[in-house]
Amino acid sequence: MKKATVVGAGLVGSLWAVLLAKRGYRVDMYERRADSRKAGYTGGRSINLALSDRGWKALDRAGLKEAIAKEAIPMFARTLHALDGTLTKQPYGRPDQAIYSVSRSGLNESLLSLADQFEHVHLHFEHKCTDVDLETGAATFENTQGELTTSTPGLLFATDGAYSAVRSAMIKTDRYQFQQQYIDHGYKELHIPAASDGSFQMEKNVLHIWPRGGYMLIALPNPDGSFTLTLFFAWEGEESFASLRTSGEAESFFQRVFPDALALMSDFQEQWNANSANSLAIMRCDPWQFNGTVALIGDAAHAIVPFYGQGMNAGFEDCTVLDDMLQEWGEDWQKILPAYSKMRKPNGDAIAELTLLNFIEMRDLVGKPSFLLQKKIEAHFAGKHPDRWTPLYTQVTFSHTPYAEALANGKKQNALMAEVLALEGIEERWDSPEVEQFILDRL
Ligand SMILES: Cc1cc2nc3c(=O)[nH]c(=O)nc-3n(C[C@H](O)[C@H](O)[C@H](O)COP(=O)(O)OP(=O)(O)OC[C@H]3O[C@@H](n4cnc5c(N)ncnc54)[C@H](O)[C@@H]3O)c2cc1C
Repeated sequence: MKKATVVGAGLVGSLWAVLLAKRGYRVDMYERRADSRKAGYTGGRSINLALSDRGWKALDRAGLKEAIAKEAIPMFARTLHALDGTLTKQPYGRPDQAIYSVSRSGLNESLLSLADQFEHVHLHFEHKCTDVDLETGAATFENTQGELTTSTPGLLFATDGAYSAVRSAMIKTDRYQFQQQYIDHGYKELHIPAASDGSFQMEKNVLHIWPRGGYMLIALPNPDGSFTLTLFFAWEGEESFASLRTSGEAESFFQRVFPDALALMSDFQEQWNANSANSLAIMRCDPWQFNGTVALIGDAAHAIVPFYGQGMNAGFEDCTVLDDMLQEWGEDWQKILPAYSKMRKPNGDAIAELTLLNFIEMRDLVGKPSFLLQKKIEAHFAGKHPDRWTPLYTQVTFSHTPYAEALANGKKQNALMAEVLALEGIEERWDSPEVEQFILDRL
């Protein structure tokens, strides 16, 4: 039987194990943590995630789309909370287009259970990868008793996340490119409970954002009526995690800048103390494979910051792309893995860049009149000429356009919109035929 080893049973690893199993591979998947379905979830990081078209496509291929859709909560727009409590709703796309809030643990466990249903998938929990022989594809794992096991040489897929042990072995090879970039902001998760009757305390089907210039708070709904809040905040500086020395100071700060959110949390100070602040990093490396035998997938290849809600979606797309190549080229991994690395690397870089741009958009620009005017003009023009203008957000979130292509299109669109916004009297004539023609002439 064809064999493959997968290191890391997170979101991407468990999905990839399913796709490999469907293609008749015996899969041995090793995960350093205990089985969360028995031991409880300790995966850390965000409690819920935004799932969009690229992710849905992969889940569909795995056969899990319908099951996940039952629990997923559609978010059709972002709702901005101004300091004075005014709410502004900005749709993400067409009225039928949404991103979906899903539980990280629920999704991971559903994928694991699906993988477990194949008798040729073998899950090895509490096995931490400690070493890799890149030449043979054999990896060494240590269990909780300190005993070592070595996997069968051959195909090895690294889905062991941003701090990948397999990538660490690749970094030691000659001319390997690797860059780790921590951003100035970290994040802390908080919680708004359901109302006493179990209902949502804010509008359910939107992603809530409190943009405040240098930082922001966001909230995604959960099926139990609660919201998970994430504060994205600088580590250092006048308004930063470092500046809030006690939970009391944090509460006063929230009272000043996020009063409507604070009003919905009864135990703010307990939460502030209990939940740690975590760092955010971007990892770039090249290539994503070694000798047609070892490949990096998901965050192991391209960890990004979470501001476009695309990290998992991009990792799931890696799996669809590899699966397409398997379909097209059979089992020729010597051809598939170099082609995968070459094709996906520019897209990994592009989504990393898009994500940093979207952070500025979310925390700052969304509250600015010129940005709102730009979006209004774009939406108006796209409505009239859908074949000539697809908004960047739509290309990234609601399409399968390669990220690099979306980024290039977005840059062209932004340059053109800068010219449009500079037109005299644009505030009054933004929907006029002359402005429409001005754009058409330049496309
Ligand atoms: C705050 C936050 C919010 C996010 N929101 C979104 C969002 O809305 N939408 C979205 O698409 N993405 C989002 N992401 C990104 C998303 O979480 C990641 O892209 C996704 O988890 C990557 O999946 P993965 O399987 O590649 O890695 P991981 O989820 O990190 O899984 C890696 C697995 O490998 C295991 N492992 C690690 N080292 C070893 C080892 N040495 N041996 C064996 N096993 C090992 C780990 O225990 C883990 O189970 C967010 C990230 C953060 C931090």
